[in-house]
Amino acid sequence: MHTPDWKQLLADALTLPGRLSAAYSMFHNYSISNRLWAIAQLEARGLPISPIASYNGWKKFGRQVKKGEKALSLLMPRMYRKKDASGALTDPEDIRIGFMVRNHWFSLDQTEGEAYEPDLLIPEWSRVAALDALGLREEVFSDMNGNKMGYSVPCEGVIAVNPLNPLPWKTRFHEIAHCLLHTEAAMLSDDQVLDDSLIEVEAESVAYLCCASLGLPGLAESRGYIQHWMQGTESKRLTGKNIQRIFGAADKILSAGKPAQPESGICGQAMQAADLP
Ligand SMILES: [Zn+2]
Repeated sequence: MHTPDWKQLLADALTLPGRLSAAYSMFHNYSISNRLWAIAQLEARGLPISPIASYNGWKKFGRQVKKGEKALSLLMPRMYRKKDASGALTDPEDIRIGFMVRNHWFSLDQTEGEAYEPDLLIPEWSRVAALDALGLREEVFSDMNGNKMGYSVPCEGVIAVNPLNPLPWKTRFHEIAHCLLHTEAAMLSDDQVLDDSLIEVEAESVAYLCCASLGLPGLAESRGYIQHWMQGTESKRLTGKNIQRIFGAADKILSAGKPAQPESGICGQAMQAADLP
C-alpha cells in the first residue's frame, strides 16, 4: 500500500488556502495529515470535499456506499509489541504505536440513501483550554520594542503577544509552536531573522496550519514569512522529520483547544468560537 507524499500535502496546504478550513470543519476528528490526505484523494477522483465516514458509519445515518465506489485511505495508529527474530516478545510491557494505511472511508458523495446535512461549523477552540492542556502560560506583553510582534520563553513555557499586533492569532500559534518544538531555546523574540531559519519555518508553518484550520486571517502574510525564512535555511527545503514535527505540533494545538466530546454523542450546545476575537 502506498503512503502519501507528506511534502506535497504540506506544500498544497500552504498554497491553497480554504481547503484546510473546509477540511477542518468537515473532518475535525481526524489528524491534520489525514485531513490533507483525504482532500488530495477526493480531488484526484474529481469528488467535492465532503464529510467522510466508514461503511458502518454511513449505515448509522441510513446511507449506503454506492456500488463500485473505492474506499479512501487514511493512516491509523496501531499498537504493537516488539518481537525478536524467533517471534518471541522482547518485553511484553513495551507497547509501541505505529501507523498503517487502511482503506475504510467513503465521502458523502460516494454514498446514497437518507438525506444527510453535514454540520459545517468549525468546532469551538478555546485559547484558555489549549494553553492549560499544553502546560503553557500567556503573559502580558512586556517589551519596549514596539516592532516585536510577540515572544516566547520555550524553556519556561511562556508566550506573549503584542497588543498592537494586527494578526495576534498567527503570532500566538507561532509562539506556542516554539514552546512545543524548540524547548532548547532560552528566548525567541520575533522581531528579526534568527540564526536558525529552520526554527522559524517550523513555527510559522504550524501557525499557518492552525490559522487555516480555524478560518483565522493572516495566511498570505504567513506564506510570505515561510518563503522568506526558507531561503535562509541551508538546504532550502524541509525534511520528512520537519514535516512530521509541524503536523504533530499543529494537531496537538488544535486538539488541546477543542472541547471534550459530549458523552451522549449529541451536541446540545451551540458551537461557537468563544475565545476567538
Ligand atoms: Zn519565531
